[in-house]
Amino acid sequence: MVIVLERSIRDDDKQRLREYLTDRGFRVREIVGEEETIFGAVGAVAIDLREVELRPGVQRVIPITKPYKLASRELKQSDSVVTVGPIRIGGPRIAVIAGPCAVESEELILETARIVRESGAVALRGGAFKPRTSPYSFQGHGEEGLRLLKQAGERYDMPVVSEIVAPAYVDMYREYVDLMQVGARNMQNFELLKAVGSTGRPVMLKRGLCATIEEWLMAAEYLLAHGTEDVILCERGIRTFETYTRNSLDISSIPVARKLTHLPILVDPSHATGLREKVPPVGLGAVAAGADGLIVEVHPAPDEALSDGPQTLFPEQFEKLMRDIEALSPVVGRELTRIPRRRPAAGEGRPVVVAGAASPAMQSAAAGAMPVAYQGARGAYSEMALLRFFHDLEFTAEPCRHFRDVFDVVLQGSARYGIVPVENSLAGSVHENYDLLLQYPDLTIVGEIKLRIEHSLIGLPGSSLESITRVFSHPQALAQCDDYLRAHDWTLVPFYDTAGSVAHIADEGRLEYAAIANARAAEVYGMQILKEGIETNPRNYTRFVVLTRDEVASVDDANLASLVFSTPDKPGALFAAMQIMAAASLNLKKLESRPIPGKPWEYMFYVDLELPDTEGPFHEALERLPDVVNDLRVLGIYRGV
Ligand code: PEP
Ligand code: MN
Repeated sequence: MVIVLERSIRDDDKQRLREYLTDRGFRVREIVGEEETIFGAVGAVAIDLREVELRPGVQRVIPITKPYKLASRELKQSDSVVTVGPIRIGGPRIAVIAGPCAVESEELILETARIVRESGAVALRGGAFKPRTSPYSFQGHGEEGLRLLKQAGERYDMPVVSEIVAPAYVDMYREYVDLMQVGARNMQNFELLKAVGSTGRPVMLKRGLCATIEEWLMAAEYLLAHGTEDVILCERGIRTFETYTRNSLDISSIPVARKLTHLPILVDPSHATGLREKVPPVGLGAVAAGADGLIVEVHPAPDEALSDGPQTLFPEQFEKLMRDIEALSPVVGRELTRIPRRRPAAGEGRPVVVAGAASPAMQSAAAGAMPVAYQGARGAYSEMALLRFFHDLEFTAEPCRHFRDVFDVVLQGSARYGIVPVENSLAGSVHENYDLLLQYPDLTIVGEIKLRIEHSLIGLPGSSLESITRVFSHPQALAQCDDYLRAHDWTLVPFYDTAGSVAHIADEGRLEYAAIANARAAEVYGMQILKEGIETNPRNYTRFVVLTRDEVASVDDANLASLVFSTPDKPGALFAAMQIMAAASLNLKKLESRPIPGKPWEYMFYVDLELPDTEGPFHEALERLPDVVNDLRVLGIYRGV
């Protein structure tokens, strides 16, 4: 039962209540919340709740209806955060634990610890007593394995996780391991659960191969009922009729368990899939579904691993997974715990779309293959944005040399749409396009797309990192790969365009030349990717807008609007405009000022607004704004994020 205490309860009444309950065979846990303090009382005894309710200092008593009590959200509404040495699992941050399936040798565990630490893992895993299906398979190095694991954890400043398989080992594990793992095969080994729970130490409890969510939570209850307060659940896939994967990851168990319990939930995509190439997508899916983190098998040479090699990631795959989790986490309102945060390393150079959708008007325009213009050579990031935005439609992509050409071909009608970048999350606004928006009043913004920018180092087939002496790219791309480039002694050559620089090295045909662009550009020009994901900051996005003539988006299917205006030269002029927008509850997303050509020290203001659910306030603001600003123009009303 949950006993909610009065705020004013006296200490001696509290003590007497505790004794009253323990005398009757209840285990009592005090939980101090922001709003109220409660006693969680559980035990295999029946009691008349009214008796408890009548005790001094008790506000109310709520029975816990679920069979699992201490694990239940009914007992504790806020998410629990489990502390393991210096790290915390649960809460707003995503934690990733990594390491080999088994500790194989001193050298290998040290090397793996170094690798996973460098990519940002917060704890090191490694089995020492392996529960193998076959008695002839490698069984682990036992206590010596635990000693080596602890040594590697200490060397690289990471707490360590290892599976315990028998109650007799509890004291040994206490000495070497920060987080005891109860494996899938032992989830309902109740004597083990009791022994591990009674250590009072943090435990990670894997879901059993054929366990229901309720059985899993009941196993957690065993741990909690025997003394530990720190239990982390770990979904690792269940047995189904499917044979392509080792197990079937029950991804829906994450939100289901999240609702039923306050305990943190990790996911093990390695044992869930049994196949290395499936681990990153499934791991990302788990993060997207709300997991508090992952536990992943990584080995310096997985093909030579003594156990679970086929599901174990290569170091480069793990680094790429960490970068992807870092990019994904903000989408689900989380942040990856990653130390160090950044390191030039491998990664796939494919941009990932964050948002973007073709409007109904675009869909009808696309009946024939409509031309869509973009700036840059084939393989440019703009082309990538275009391909993603118009993905479902029939179109032809028309390259233009300059941004102005994109505006021109759309104005003349030889392209139905144009796409131009307006802002990069690291480098800021693309001013040229802001100015062009003003110079082409007949064009309107009808869409938006954000693209994650991932740069690759690209060379000729047959070239290698050793053969490179000169690297060509757009100055912004060179700057964004600064950490990686600084580690090499290459001459950097600015070029007008990223994809154009790949075309250039293809023309030159010299093995010592390389270019930086997106991975697709290598494909387009038949070049070779020498290194993927070399940008310093993986949170690198560019926002593009889609332009057209003669098309007005309706406020109905839009959530954003872009305006531009100038203000009279007097005190409070901009403030007056802002006041009108504030009064209409229009959320300002961006305010940008640009000099007016030919009018020194006078400026145009560009405003991006989030539209409210009803269109009334926006139209009212549009009517009132001309009273306080000059040259007002709606650049576009469109859908985006
Ligand atoms: C492991 O993590 O090494 C392991 C054996 O996992 P599971 O118990 O989930 O099979
Ligand atoms: Mn394993």
